[in-house]
Formats: sequence, structure tokens, C-alpha cells
Amino acid sequence: EGGAAVPGHSGRARHVLLFPLPYQGHINPMLRLAGVLHARGFAVTVFHTHFNAPDAARHPEHRFVAVPDGMSGRPPPVSVDDVVKHIHALNGACEAAFRDRLAAVLAEYSRDAVTCFVADAHLLRMVEVARRLTVPTLVLRTGSAACFAGFLAYPLLCDKGYLPSSQLDMAVSELPPYRVRDLMHIGRDGHELMCELVARAVAAVKLSSGLILNTFDALEAPELAKLRRDLAVPVFDIGPLHKFSPAADGSLLHQDRSCLEWLDTQVPESVLYVSFGSLACMGARELVETAWGIAGSGVPFLWVVRPGLVGGRAPDEAAARLLPEGFEAATRRRGVVVAWAPQEEVLRHRAVGGFWTHNGWNSTTESLGEGVPMLCRPNFGDQMGNARYVEHVWKAGFEVAGGELERATVEAAIRRLMTESDGGEMRARARELKKAAAECTGKASSSEMAIVKMVTHMLSL
Ligand code: UDP
Repeated sequence: EGGAAVPGHSGRARHVLLFPLPYQGHINPMLRLAGVLHARGFAVTVFHTHFNAPDAARHPEHRFVAVPDGMSGRPPPVSVDDVVKHIHALNGACEAAFRDRLAAVLAEYSRDAVTCFVADAHLLRMVEVARRLTVPTLVLRTGSAACFAGFLAYPLLCDKGYLPSSQLDMAVSELPPYRVRDLMHIGRDGHELMCELVARAVAAVKLSSGLILNTFDALEAPELAKLRRDLAVPVFDIGPLHKFSPAADGSLLHQDRSCLEWLDTQVPESVLYVSFGSLACMGARELVETAWGIAGSGVPFLWVVRPGLVGGRAPDEAAARLLPEGFEAATRRRGVVVAWAPQEEVLRHRAVGGFWTHNGWNSTTESLGEGVPMLCRPNFGDQMGNARYVEHVWKAGFEVAGGELERATVEAAIRRLMTESDGGEMRARARELKKAAAECTGKASSSEMAIVKMVTHMLSL
């Protein structure tokens, strides 16, 4: 704990201090940001909770400082209300300990050597602590620019009666192409909770000296322009971050690399990769319908059945035990099921021709960055909004179906994406976006310029 001084962390090196929110979808972009800063000569210190602590041994180039969260024994969140409550609880539980750890680090490095602190947008309390200790602070928001524009508009949208509402298909004319269902929401009961979460993220950004977004110009130019108009702090669109730091592995689960060898044996663009990220859950019946839909489609597949994917089952239950009897025999030569995959490499693999995803923002940008079209099955949070953009703005995929999944719907959706002509058009669009992502991350590109501006800004604070 605390970590001894490591080479490069003493003397006159410039330091940046980071604190990710402890979920996979937030740790990955923060560690990728760490990689970007390290490559530009910064020494990086990563504060982290005991809950979902990153594996420091895989990142000897950074220093890791544990912040006791006093939450051991608390089960990991499963539902969206749980996640929101958990974020709130973490803020309160870490505040005092973070103040102590931060003060110790500042004393050790000498105040002037610390360039700034970058916190996840959901860690308002840590932003406040850093401010009180006069450390300049930036905020990393790990979702899309469109999603954050939704955060800024939230009070207005509530005033106008969009939320809470049961008219989920109503268009939100202030934020096209969103409908009410595409906004962050958790129904009437959770409305106050969601308002608070959003308001705190906005407060964190407004208190900070800059907003860092894992997005890029070719994807969200109008949304970024809008944020720049509406925010007093500078906005740095430095994504897709996985393109700048491909080796920044922040995986909390063991990645089963054997599936890459299996992919090597498959025909180019023939395989459907199926993964719903680190938090999304499905019911036992839906898992069965999904399995038979995949089997019935006849399409080769690589499916991540994560421990805990089926709500209510023990998180350590082996993936294979959740699948229906006969599924393995029916798909033996055609598919592989793993508990957790090296997703970036999978999406980069030439055999992969489609991604059935829950549309977490990382998965969405990783898929677009590799030119893989998507079958969208958003679950909660910002995922519905991301899926909406995939289908209606980028036209690189479509939503499987609303409501409970049925095997026939699954089968038809998979065939449409993988073998039918409009699936082919979506693949062509995804390829264009891959090219655009490459252009946004190359030499003198928009994202690289944004990184240069961000670093210059950090050093000016
Ligand atoms: N991921 C992975 N292996 C898997 C599934 C996901 O490494 O089998 C990674 C994925 O590359 C992404 C992150 O986990 O960076 C998930 O983040 P995302 O925002 O897509 O979803 P979340 O887990 O936050 O819902």
C-alpha cells in the first residue's frame, strides 16, 4: 500500500495525479490517459480504492496509492440504482482518507512538482479535496460528449417534464436524436438519485480547470462545439484513448487469450463477438433465448459470459454452467464461450465482423475505432444514448429489440448484421469511421492537437 518511490518519481519530474472511479469502464480510460501522460514525460500517480483495485504489478511505470474505502464486505453493485448509490457511498467513504493520502504525496513531491490532479467526473468529493489543498484539477468524463450535453441540460429537461416520464418514445427536441428513453434515467423511484448523480458530475466539471473526454472530432464535432459554448472550462477531446495507449491493460478479470488463437482459424469478418461489458446483467431466461438465437443464426461467434452476467446468480459461477443444456454440443465447431476476453485485440482481429454489445462508451469507441459494426442491446446509464447514436447518427449498427429477448428475434438480428446487405452497409460505415478515427489520432490530428493543448494547459495551471 502507498507504494515506495519508484524511478522517475523523484527529483524534478512533472507529476500528474489520477483517481479513476473503480469500475472497469472508468479504470480503462483513466489508465489509458495515464499512458498518454507518461509518454509525454509525466510521472503518474494513480489513487485507487481497495474495491476493484487495479493490478499495480502490470503497470510498473506508474505509482499506485491505495485509498481505504471502508467498504469491504459490501457486495458489488448489480442494478443501476445500486451503482448510483455505490458511487455516492464511495465519495463519502474515501474523502477523509484521500485528503490524508493526497497531503502526504504533496509533501513528498514538493508542491510545485505536482502539475495537476485528474479525477473521474463522478468523484466530486475528491475534486473538492484537491481544490482545498490548492491542487489544480481536471476532470475525465468517460462517456460521450452527447451524454455530457445531456447532463448539462438535465435540470431544464426535468423542468420541461421530459423526466421523470413514462412517455419514453417522446423525442427530446433539445437534444436530437435522443428520445426520453435515451437519456440517463432510472424511472420515477430513482429520479431524485439520478438527478443528484448528474448534478454532482456537472458540479465536478464546473469546479475543475478542464474537461477531458474520450471522444474525437469525427464522431461528435457538433456535440463538442455545443459543450464548448456551454462550459466555461476548456474541453479536450483526446479519444479514442485506446488508440493512443493500446497496451494500457486495466482489466480486473483475467483475459482468456486462447480465443485469439481460435479467431486465427476463422474466415475474415465472419465472427460475431458478443459481450455486455462488466456490469450489465440479464435474466436466466434471456440468457437461454440469447444462446439459442446465437446457435440458430448459424454464424460463428465468440461470446463473453462473464461471472455475474445473470442477475441473482453467484458471481463466481462458471460461465458454462449458466448456458442451456445442449448449447455446447449444438455449436461446438462454430463458437467459443469465455469468461472475459482481451476485447481490444478481439475487435482488431480480422476474423471479427460484428459486435453484439451493451454499448458501454468504451466498447462503442473500441468497436468504431476498429471498424466493427454493432448489434446494440443497451442496458442502463448512458448505453441507450450511445446505441441511439450508433444507429441514427453513425449508422454503424442497429438495436436488436426492445423488451425481453426471444430467440427468433436474436437469430434474425444476427443474420441481418452478419450476412444481409444492410448489415454490409453498416460495415462499410464502420470502416469509414475506423478511417476517421485513424485520421483523428495520427500526426497533427485533432486528438493529438487536443492532447498537446491539454498538456500545455496542465502546465499553465
Ligand atoms: N472488456 C474486456 N473484456 C471483455 C469485456 C470487456 O477487456 O470480455 C473491456 C472493454 O474493452 C472495455 C471495458 O471492458 O474497455 C468495458 O467498458 P464499457 O464502457 O464498454 O462497459 P462497462 O463495463 O462500463 O459497462
